[in-house]
Amino acid sequence: MPATILVVEDEPAIQELIAYNLRQAGHEAMRAETAEQALNLVRDVLPDLVLLDWMLPGQSGIEFARRMKADRRTREVPIIMLTARAEEPDKLLGLETGADDYITKPFSPRELNARIKAVLRRRAPEATDDRVEVGGLQIDPASHRVTAGDVALVLGPTEFRLLHYLMTHAERVHSRVQLLDQVWGDHVFVEERTVDVHIRRLRKALEPTGHDRLVQTVRGSGYRLSDSP
Ligand code: CA
Repeated sequence: MPATILVVEDEPAIQELIAYNLRQAGHEAMRAETAEQALNLVRDVLPDLVLLDWMLPGQSGIEFARRMKADRRTREVPIIMLTARAEEPDKLLGLETGADDYITKPFSPRELNARIKAVLRRRAPEATDDRVEVGGLQIDPASHRVTAGDVALVLGPTEFRLLHYLMTHAERVHSRVQLLDQVWGDHVFVEERTVDVHIRRLRKALEPTGHDRLVQTVRGSGYRLSDSP
């Protein structure tokens, strides 16, 4: 599945080049020139990953990373630092602040894509095309298929994304607001009961093979996908 990647970079030429490469790799690029702009964007849409320039005018990249890690809502978003400096202390400080990886400028598109793929696989499996299986139910983002044994199940696009997110984060409880952020990319303008509507449709779509049992309601908290009762 394409990832939504936020590029925070104040050099227009580098920002343009990175955004172009991301689109070529099938991702969606959000762009900001300053940490302040980036924080505003993140308030509306939660990206799957942030590419963060270290040296920014105004608030620094490191300060932005600190703020992302301090907020429960944005804490889990992986960050790759882009740094022109090759000095060890900077990299260490970045990694201590919670960055997942760093890449030293100049870098090739190939290197950037490889780093992005590795970090997404580790930290945001819902943004990869890897096939996932839970309790005999299989989802394949590449072919957009959901199967249980020989049976193909038919899901709408929202139910597919919802199931994929739940299956890549099995056993965890997700609140409605978290699901809106992660699956709809919008926790501000979509109503929470929308989640319930699509959970209902998802269960119905999984009924033919009895896999609706995997989609569990956790009273007062939200939803969980689990193979255990
Ligand atoms: Ca810069």
